[in-house]
Parts: sequence; C-alpha cells; structure tokens
Amino acid sequence: MKFRNFKMVDYVVYGRGCFDQLDEIIAPHRKEGAPMVFLLDQYFENDAAFKARIPLKGNDQLLIADVTYEPKTSQVDAIATQLKEQFGTVSGIIGIGGGSVMDLAAAVSLMITNPGKAEDYQGWDLVKNPGVYKVGIPTISGTGAEVSRTCVLSGPERKLGMNSDFTPFDQIVLDPELIKSVPKNQRFYTGMDCYIHCIESLQGTYLNAFSQSYGEKALELCQKVFLNKKEWDAESDEDLMMASYAGGMSIAYSQVGVAHAVSYGLAHVLGVKHGIGNCIVFNHLEEFYPEGVKEFHQMVKQADIDIPQGITKGLTEEQFNTMIDVSLNMAPLWENALGKNWREQMTRERLRKLYERL
Ligand code: NAD
Ligand code: ZN
Repeated sequence: MKFRNFKMVDYVVYGRGCFDQLDEIIAPHRKEGAPMVFLLDQYFENDAAFKARIPLKGNDQLLIADVTYEPKTSQVDAIATQLKEQFGTVSGIIGIGGGSVMDLAAAVSLMITNPGKAEDYQGWDLVKNPGVYKVGIPTISGTGAEVSRTCVLSGPERKLGMNSDFTPFDQIVLDPELIKSVPKNQRFYTGMDCYIHCIESLQGTYLNAFSQSYGEKALELCQKVFLNKKEWDAESDEDLMMASYAGGMSIAYSQVGVAHAVSYGLAHVLGVKHGIGNCIVFNHLEEFYPEGVKEFHQMVKQADIDIPQGITKGLTEEQFNTMIDVSLNMAPLWENALGKNWREQMTRERLRKLYERL
C-alpha cells in the first residue's frame, strides 16, 4: 500500500476581523513592479466600505469575478493572459469570494506560470510549475475549496479540476465576519455541500482515522448550526466556517460519494450548480445514506428551504445517457461509496432510474 503524501495550505489565519491583517500578511510577497491581483466576488462589486478594506498598493489590480456560472477554463485563460500581457508577471492572486472565486483564483495563479491553456491541466498531477503566490479568502462557507488540492473548472471537454500539489493556497484567511451577508438559501445549499462531504466521507470505504476525525467534527458543527440551534447568529458563522475547513480536510484524505458523482452529471447537462445540485440529489439517496438523508430532510424542514424536484422531466434519451456517462466516469467516487465491485452495483439502468427520480 502506498500512502498519499498530502500537500496542505501553508498558512491559516482565523478570527473575526482578521481580514484586516491582509496587508501585513501579503507584504513579504510583493515583488517590485509586479502587482497583487485581487479577484473579488461580484457580490461585493458595489460595496464601497468593503472594497476600501482591500489593501491596494501601487499598480495592484482589483478585478471583479463574474460568478454567474461556475468557473470555466476560458475565463481562467482570459484573466491569466490579460495579466501576463499587461505586467509580464504578478506578485500574487488573492481570491475573495465563494468556492467559485477561490477556484478561479487558484487556477489563474497556476496559469500565470504554466504554458498553454487551463484545459490542458484538467486532471491529476498535470500541472508542471508552481503558480504565483495565492491566497484564498472565503466569503461563503461549505465547499472546502479553501483547503482543496483541486480547483474545479468547466472546460470544452469536461468539468474537472486541476488536481495537483501546486493547487493548494499558500495562505488562507478565515474571517467569519465575511460570510454573514450570505442569503439563507445560498447559505443552506453551500452549507449542505459540507454536510454531504461529511456523510460521504464517513460512510465511504476509503475512510481512515485522519478523515474520520475531521469528518466527525465537521458533521457535529453542521448539526449544531442547521439542526440544534433555532436562530442563526454570529457563532453559527464561526462554526460553519470551521465545518467547511474540517469537511474539506476530511474529503482531502478520502473521497466524496454518490451525491457528488450524480450531481456532476446534472451540472454537465443542465448547468445545475454544485451546492443546490448536491441537495437535489442527496434528497433522494435514502438507499445509500439512510441516516444522513433522514437528518438532511429535518434540516431542510427546519431551514424552510425548497429543494427543486422534477428537474430531469422531459430530458431526451441522449441527455440521460450523457449524464450517466459523466457520472460513471467518476470512478473513485463510486468506489469510495460502494466498494471495489461498484460497477456491478451501479448499473446504467439503476443510475437512470435515480436520475429520473430527481
Ligand atoms: P459560489 O462561489 O458559486 O457563490 C454563490 C453566490 O453567492 C454567488 O452569487 C456569489 O456572488 C454570492 N456570494 C459570495 N459571497 C457572498 C456574501 N458574503 N454575501 C452574499 N452573497 C455572496 O458558491 P459556493 O457554493 O461557495 O461555490 C461553488 C463552487 O465551488 C462551484 O464552482 C464548485 O465547483 C466549487 N467547489 C470547489 C471545490 C474544491 O474542492 N475546489 C469543492 C466544492 C465546490
Ligand atoms: Zn462538494
């Protein structure tokens, strides 16, 4: 057995208001003439007070990241090319936003120093050179993108991350104050991404004590904020931020499972986003995760959220087949969920029936 030598984020600062330390944190990484580039979630575009707290100096760039759609390889290439043409290189890329912006920032950092196009690096360990200095600053919590070894991108061929030891951030800034403005529905969908990471990791065949210890803590925090507390408060933001971190650490050393494998198919064919897509699927996964789905239903009820239903009604034969192909391609996810003989258990027919129920 060969064990994975797991590359982690180098530095973590945590605490309410720690965003204001960003200036001093990044100062040693500034290079003469090369700007720091701040990629800011479009949600903050018109928030003058927040923008004033971003430590812009000299020729630093503040770019607004369009997150109408989840990040695309073409979007990464466009930003990286523009920066290289304008400045040659940059001192660093700082992503301030949800999972989409953090993934975008990590990918742009890598594409500043690697030749070709982002799509060339979608896969495992294809990235050749370290990226420029990169910082992830979540403003929504749940995806675990802040501690991830991948940055998920939709390319012309597939939706797949640039998985590599060069992908994790050099620094993350975890300031629970930044997530307080997330609307209830979005907070639930992205928060449930974390809950589902926990269930899929803890119920998976790849589980080990490393993943379990993080997964159990993250699960406990999710249960606290989404089940055991009646009102959302500042402490809930703190708990959810740490749940996202721990949930991300849990799957980093194991794998996700059925909800993610099925939801990738929905994303590919229907453009359904990660958080809500996972909820739509998990809602119907009693046969795989009976306890987790029961608890999920309680959380949905308590938060008073509508999970969309009937989204695959009227799809063509070809669309169903594409979803099934995309999903069955995620072999490690299925193997984690169902074991080595997963192909015998998850036939095309069974998966088709599952898609029809969504
Ligand atoms: P998101 O980044 O797509 O953002 C959702 C919405 O919330 C956007 O409209 C955004 O503008 C808004 N928003 C951001 N911060 C806000 C704030 N503080 N207040 C109010 N609104 C705010 O959502 P997400 O669920 O965080 O991320 C999903 C993305 O993460 C997907 O692209 C998915 O592929 C990726 N992801 C990556 C990993 C990984 O390991 N790298 C893991 C899971 C998901
Ligand atoms: Zn996820």
